[in-house]
Amino acid sequence: MTVTRFAPSPTGYLHVGNLRTALFNYMIARKQGGEFILRLDDTDPERSKQEYADAIMEDLEWLGLTWDRVEKQSDRIGRYEDAAQKLRDMGRFYECFETPVELDLKRKKQLNMGKPPVYDRSALKLSEDDKNALRAERSGHWRFKLDWSAIEWTDGILGDRSIDGSNVSDPVLIRGDGQFLYTLASVCDDIDFGITNVVRGSDHVTNTATQIQIIQALGGTVPEFAHHSLLTGPQGEALSKRLGTLALRDLRAQGLEPMAILSHMARIGSSQPVELCGSLDELIAGFDISTFGAAPTKFDVEDLKPLTSRYVASLSVEDVTDQLTAMDVPADVMAEFWDVTRENIATRLEAAKWWALCSEGADPMIDDEDKEFVETAKSLLPAQPWTGDTWKTWTGAVKEATGRKGKSLFMPLRKALTGMEHGPDMSKLMPLLQRVNF
Ligand code: GLU
Repeated sequence: MTVTRFAPSPTGYLHVGNLRTALFNYMIARKQGGEFILRLDDTDPERSKQEYADAIMEDLEWLGLTWDRVEKQSDRIGRYEDAAQKLRDMGRFYECFETPVELDLKRKKQLNMGKPPVYDRSALKLSEDDKNALRAERSGHWRFKLDWSAIEWTDGILGDRSIDGSNVSDPVLIRGDGQFLYTLASVCDDIDFGITNVVRGSDHVTNTATQIQIIQALGGTVPEFAHHSLLTGPQGEALSKRLGTLALRDLRAQGLEPMAILSHMARIGSSQPVELCGSLDELIAGFDISTFGAAPTKFDVEDLKPLTSRYVASLSVEDVTDQLTAMDVPADVMAEFWDVTRENIATRLEAAKWWALCSEGADPMIDDEDKEFVETAKSLLPAQPWTGDTWKTWTGAVKEATGRKGKSLFMPLRKALTGMEHGPDMSKLMPLLQRVNF
């Protein structure tokens, strides 16, 4: 069975970049009728917060990306201890004592000499006495001893990859303070949960090389890996610093629609065009990871707006009843109101503006040269209630009285009634207008 996971650290809110990872893993699992696990990578007790874990789930639920189960790395420390012991027993795990400053110095020296900044394994030369002496001063951290051979895999997006183990530093799997690091925890989880496919950002490519060796050392099955490109801004600029402002909850607050966001994120960076899909099932049916390219993917939040307004325009009144009720739109005019409004709003939230106009009237917009004309029109305005014919009857009478026609007849009346130059069909809007303020 296909089993995938989305593995955010609950140290912040999900942003559009995380969403891409979540969505790919979700779609792979659902397309194969497999399992999708939400894994919280919370081994860092200082930075991980329940508040963020809750927010992650809330955001995924909002998008409809449902998971089959949740796993927390903080519940599995015992398992990571066993794995660490296994690696120690097979001579693949060694204790090191360099301080961050010492390591930094080593790296700088290597770079100055034109060498790759790979950890030099000097800790392997320490005798037991050396280590005991060092242990008295500070606690050691633990590195996995990589095999210095080619690490190869066929990446679902990047194609055939080969990384030479000798070009990579032996990864630290346990910190000096005893904290298990993501690399080991992730490998244990991927093995234990039977993960078959891992999609993550291309910033994880080197991790993948080291993780493949750790999985093999622990006797696990290596999943299929795919590394998607990272997002850039519309001009190709790095997005990493701006991702904080592209949190899913901010997009939600702006009224952007889940299906608009999902439709966009499921296709950008692929050879398939972005199409507004009506449901996740439709999106899943058209998903094919091999259509994605390795080049950085441009993302512009503005692109979500036209998709959102098209999606909103396609909604039925039943789809928006809850929101319209919350805006105090009475049930007996709700269907008519939605019919008039949906083509004229960028987001559902904007319906509130139109309801305010209908129920309270607008600030009239009357140009000086139209003052007299609007006065005459007002005197000809039929008494309420207004119907679908009112606009026609009224403008007919105004035309007769003033001799105006076309735009010079209709536009000043629209502006006087709605305070705007654009908007819904006036004959449909008039029956909903409860007040005029001119
Ligand atoms: N917690 C890791 C991250 O957010 C997970 C990476 C992975 O998918 O293995 O980068």
